[in-house]
Amino acid sequence: MGKEMLTQTEQETGFYADPALQSYVSTIGLGMAHASERPSLPWEYHVIDDAAINAFAAPGGFVFVTRGILTYLNSEAELAAVLGHETGHVTARHSAAMISEQQLGGLGMAGLSIWKPKLGGILSTGASLYFLNFSRNDERQADGLGHRYALHAKYDPREMPKTFQTLQRVSSTGSSRMPGFLSTHPDPGDRVVYTKAWADTVTSFAGLKVDRDRYLSRIDGLLFGEDPEQGYFESGRYLHPTLQLRFDLPSGWQGNNQRSQVVLAEPNGQAQITFAAAKGNTPDAAAQAFLGQQGIQNIGGQRFTLGGDAATLVQFAATTSDNQALRGEAIFVQHGGTVYQFLGVTLATSWPMLGPAISQSLRSFGPTASNQVFHRRKYLRIVTLPRATSVADLAAQSGGAIAVQELAIINAVAESATLATGTRVKTVSYR
Ligand SMILES: [Zn+2]
Repeated sequence: MGKEMLTQTEQETGFYADPALQSYVSTIGLGMAHASERPSLPWEYHVIDDAAINAFAAPGGFVFVTRGILTYLNSEAELAAVLGHETGHVTARHSAAMISEQQLGGLGMAGLSIWKPKLGGILSTGASLYFLNFSRNDERQADGLGHRYALHAKYDPREMPKTFQTLQRVSSTGSSRMPGFLSTHPDPGDRVVYTKAWADTVTSFAGLKVDRDRYLSRIDGLLFGEDPEQGYFESGRYLHPTLQLRFDLPSGWQGNNQRSQVVLAEPNGQAQITFAAAKGNTPDAAAQAFLGQQGIQNIGGQRFTLGGDAATLVQFAATTSDNQALRGEAIFVQHGGTVYQFLGVTLATSWPMLGPAISQSLRSFGPTASNQVFHRRKYLRIVTLPRATSVADLAAQSGGAIAVQELAIINAVAESATLATGTRVKTVSYR
């Protein structure tokens, strides 16, 4: 089960392409594993290419942290606390129970494999899916184990509450980078209090590590925020600069941009649209391959031109493995040498209400405008201040790459703070 999640995570989100950073996180993680009750599991620690602030574990010893959470941590000891917490979920066998509740009813077909009605909110990010069923007790137990493992590996336990302070600040801004995290995790305020109390029981801090400088050096240059080159959402529209395509989301729907597909979800989980590369060299061949799958019934279709590209429309009915009747539409469209499958589906009974919005979204596909201005990539930079600098001035120097509030949070300082000459701080730049 853990290996399946590993494969799925690698395909949907991808590992962050920085072998030195991967190896660093792995080394710290293995330190937690060796301090745990199950040191002989085949532990693996990975940084995934996701801007969300997230960390999760799969049974068998697979632990994932997002590049997003790394930008918010300020020391190796904080990283150890996060990895220790996730390691704790595995050693306490929380994830096995969690995933069995999460078995998603698949249709055994690409694009519908994560379909399950009435799972509202699962699609806010790929990774947050794995958080859903951890109880608050599980979280507190994982915190306790993480505290113990980090301490055993000689990390200063007073750093752990700082991670929760940062999470608390992020959540107070209502950031979309923490989707669903706090609805299932204990109040980070609580966690600050009890992890501080645990740290207070430590009698000597002599020889315990914080390793702020080493950590900062390792994350220097990390991609910050969404990676626009992999596509992004803006004002109800999906834009992909590299593939030069765009489409509109139905009003109020949520989008999840994964590595191999884009998933759009109706807010109550009643319908879903997926966009991905199709099997087949032409729209017709892709449509035939789609219709050839078991459980799919063709109820209409046509060839047409969509945004200047050749396209084939298929209207279909389908039955899920648990005998639910579905109704949907798929458009197969050839764009820039690739055939894409753009597929919307809902319960057959919901089609009269949701079908029109799905059809409209599918038909909004087209090439990006030649004068479209795309977002640019942002990078985390570690700088040593040549003079005392206020957070506001540091933000101003970023040329709009980061706002004062967020810059203060990632550095774990007050917005009104002035940082002393010679301090190594995080900033964000476009290069
Ligand atoms: Zn947790």
